[in-house]
Amino acid sequence: MFAPSNVWGCDRRTASAGAGNAAQEEAVSGETDSPCSNRLLILDDEPGICDVFQEVAEKIGFQVHLCNRAEEFVLAYETFQPTAIILDMVMGDVDGVELLRSLAHRQCAADILIISGIDTRLLATVRRLGTTHGLRMRESLGKPVHADELRTALRRCLRAPPTMTESDLGDAIELKQLVVHYQPKVNLLSSDALVVDSCEALVRWQHPLFGLLMPSSFIGLAERSGLIAPLTDLVLKLVVDQIGCWRQNGLNLPVAVNLAPQLLSHLDLPDRLADLLSRPKIEHSKLVLEITESAAMEDPVRTMDILSRCRLKQFTLSVDDFGTGYSSLVELHRMPFSELKIDRSLVVEVDHDEDAKIIVHSIVDLAHNLGLTVCAEGAEGPEAVTFLRSIGCEKVQGYFFSKPLAPSDFIDFVEQWNRD
Ligand code: C2E
Ligand code: MG
Ligand code: MG
Repeated sequence: MFAPSNVWGCDRRTASAGAGNAAQEEAVSGETDSPCSNRLLILDDEPGICDVFQEVAEKIGFQVHLCNRAEEFVLAYETFQPTAIILDMVMGDVDGVELLRSLAHRQCAADILIISGIDTRLLATVRRLGTTHGLRMRESLGKPVHADELRTALRRCLRAPPTMTESDLGDAIELKQLVVHYQPKVNLLSSDALVVDSCEALVRWQHPLFGLLMPSSFIGLAERSGLIAPLTDLVLKLVVDQIGCWRQNGLNLPVAVNLAPQLLSHLDLPDRLADLLSRPKIEHSKLVLEITESAAMEDPVRTMDILSRCRLKQFTLSVDDFGTGYSSLVELHRMPFSELKIDRSLVVEVDHDEDAKIIVHSIVDLAHNLGLTVCAEGAEGPEAVTFLRSIGCEKVQGYFFSKPLAPSDFIDFVEQWNRD
């Protein structure tokens, strides 16, 4: 779209955004609280056993997905992309050997533990068969399985969190393995009902081996290596296409995109953004630019130039993560922001900390007096939402309403939420 250079005027080429949408469709929409590179898929038809296995596995750091029926197993394997599997060999009519063959056919790279009440010699034979198929066969455990035995076997399957290199990330951008998830922002003051009226775009890396990686695993690397420009370019293209696609389906919401500090040095940023939104034609007010307070204060004159031109072009500007930096709201007010986002480290405290309530209340009042609307980030419980509403905070974003969702799940969520 911006060939030969991207939005930020860098040389690295990124391909068109269309194909990225296909990757988004395939993305695993389930999100965990933290990036987890250890995912365990358990297939066992005895729910009681599954629960015990789950408890043991979660305690040592696995994210767990349970299957009680063999028919669900292959789909769960495809979407969850486990790094380890516990397979019960005897599942009613279904034969574990067939499942192993099916995993081999899919070139499964997960560690596999097989369990069964059948005799241990047969289990050993099945294990050898799996190895012959090229599978990573680990322990075979006879039932009843003892927690200690299981714990030891699972520990051997733990994988260190992946260390990504600049070249891995560069390839991921080229191959469009980056996908965007969307977290709803709920308007607290619209009427009696709480309505989803906008959202934030949050990038993820759909890694072929490690599954869905959160931004904490790669944004720092992108910022250090200069890959943040092509990364943001790809995110923006995916977001613009998504806005166009939702609009065709009757959903017309503003979407916020995070801009890293490095990008605020490009004086032509406003023109390039305007160009991006011209195909398909999207109103500029539909794109919200989230900028952290420290980023905005790094080179205030240049930032003021860029942000003023963004505002003149009708883009909405939001101060992200307010409360984590050292700049004062009064200083920030010189910049043409229209929204302030209170950082979640403050918001999560309001449930149980009176001081946090006072601080959040003061930020909301000060922001209002300076003509800014406020979005609170990280509301996890109903108490926080009730409090934020009572102090006139306009918007809230948090797990209480929803985690970030893949695009198709997001549209379903919004339709159902706003209807109910
Ligand atoms: P952010 O912009 O402050 O985004 C909000 C983060 O808070 C998201 O984490 C979101 O999932 C998380 N969050 C929202 N509500 C809750 C809650 O109730 N509880 C908890 N525990 N967390 C909540 P995520 O997606 O991991 O993103 C982390 C950061 O990565 C973002 O913080 C942003 O700074 C950065 N990031 C994400 N996408 C992009 C991108 O496309 N470009 C750039 N430059 N940075 C990005
Ligand atoms: Mg943000
Ligand atoms: Mg934030």
